[in-house]
Amino acid sequence: MENYNENNIFAKILRGELPCQKVLETKHALAFHDINPQAPVHVLVIPKGAYISLDDFVSKASNDQIVEFWRTVGEVARLLNLTGSGFRVLSNHSADAHQEVFHLHVHILGGRPLGPMLVGGDIPPDGTWEPLG
Ligand code: 5GP
Repeated sequence: MENYNENNIFAKILRGELPCQKVLETKHALAFHDINPQAPVHVLVIPKGAYISLDDFVSKASNDQIVEFWRTVGEVARLLNLTGSGFRVLSNHSADAHQEVFHLHVHILGGRPLGPMLVGGDIPPDGTWEPLG
């Protein structure tokens, strides 16, 4: 994995150089609406520290940062009234997951039935892959 790039879009949002539609801000995290929503509710939660991905975050961040980050994810879902109807939390890590912005972000999706877990993946019709584990 390459080094953190200070010029990624979410770093610019954190520095106030680009606008965002803020949902919630805490000491270590910021939540804002995705610019290209894939569901009626599509919010991104990012840590304020410079972490590329979930792997980078859990290996380098403090316990305080990690706990508050995940608490913020849960609080956003509650704030947006998703806990009754349901929601999905996901984070794309690197190439296979099609990560586009290399500052850790967790997607919170909800507000409609979301269908099966994986969407958009090219599952070979001949079933040539084997599940791991
Ligand atoms: P990824 O594929 O890296 O998991 O998701 C990146 C997400 O960032 C996408 O859902 C995309 O719509 C969102 N995004 C990209 N640029 C911006 C932006 O400038 N503002 C906001 N709010 N979201 C963005």
